Amino acid sequence: MRPFTYVRATDTHSALAAAAREPNTRFLAGGTNLLDLMKTDVERPAQLVDVTRLPLTAVEERAGGLRIGAMARNSDVANHALVRQRYPLLSQALVAGASAQLRNMATMGGNLLQRTRCPYFYDPTFPECNKRQPGSGCAARQGVNREHAILGASEQCIATHPSDMAVALAALDAVILAAGARGERTIAVADFYRLPGDTPHLDTNLVNGELITAIDLPPLPFASRAHYLKIRDRSSYAFALVSVAAMLDLDAGGRIRAARLALGGVAHKPWRVPDAEQILIGKRPDERAFRAAADRLLQGARPYRDNAFKVELARRSILRALTTTAAITA
Ligand code: SF4
Repeated sequence: MRPFTYVRATDTHSALAAAAREPNTRFLAGGTNLLDLMKTDVERPAQLVDVTRLPLTAVEERAGGLRIGAMARNSDVANHALVRQRYPLLSQALVAGASAQLRNMATMGGNLLQRTRCPYFYDPTFPECNKRQPGSGCAARQGVNREHAILGASEQCIATHPSDMAVALAALDAVILAAGARGERTIAVADFYRLPGDTPHLDTNLVNGELITAIDLPPLPFASRAHYLKIRDRSSYAFALVSVAAMLDLDAGGRIRAARLALGGVAHKPWRVPDAEQILIGKRPDERAFRAAADRLLQGARPYRDNAFKVELARRSILRALTTTAAITA
């Protein structure tokens, strides 16, 4: 690990001021991903600003929804009574992520910013990785790519985003609050993550030196009829091959009044296609309607050498998640 300076911030202002003094700064929260990346020499910050003491851990009711502090621990949010009652999708996705030990350390802000688990990205002995070293190439395109993207990839990068929580937040239309030198701003989760394009080294649209302070969950009357399905190689402590965040609102006659669908494990960002949800409106919650939504959500899927199975796995997972969701008595 390379030498770096360490600053412990006590409030948002001092954290931002410290970051403004050193452009090559990373904010240190739970450290469950950043420290691994520093040990493998992928991340090389000149300064770490420790934000774990910032008073940003509350889960509060706000404008009919919830505001969750960026320093709240994943396990605390997953087990919070208001989250479990009103946004079970988020609770389920958090519990599906990582291990109990990691969830006790990881923060909400850090979870949003975790980086891809593409093995070539983590191993600097492979010189080709555009995300680690822009312009160097992409070892995964011709290499082992079983866990890589089938949607939204580019010639420069075919990595997936690893967060389960972010998939749930995308389906919930969550909004991220970020503080920076120019004040505070809000960013919808849909606009927060980037597709790789020609700049795969950029995962998000956060500006250098900006700090995530909170996540807002807007009110959603049907958020309790929800299911998060994660398909992985083992039942714990594994990243998603495919995951599905599903929510349905059914009218008194049993037809679909509203729907939310997002996929994880298939793209550089949580994958959501509003048309796929629109297809379900007014339909009975049956296999035919669910298949049509799945086809639209997976439209344009392009597998690579080792991950063609993901297309059918995603289709079946969408069907299963929607069928399970429709059977929930809200
Ligand atoms: Fe690097 Fe992305 Fe290619 Fe993986 S998929 S080797 S992260 S450029």
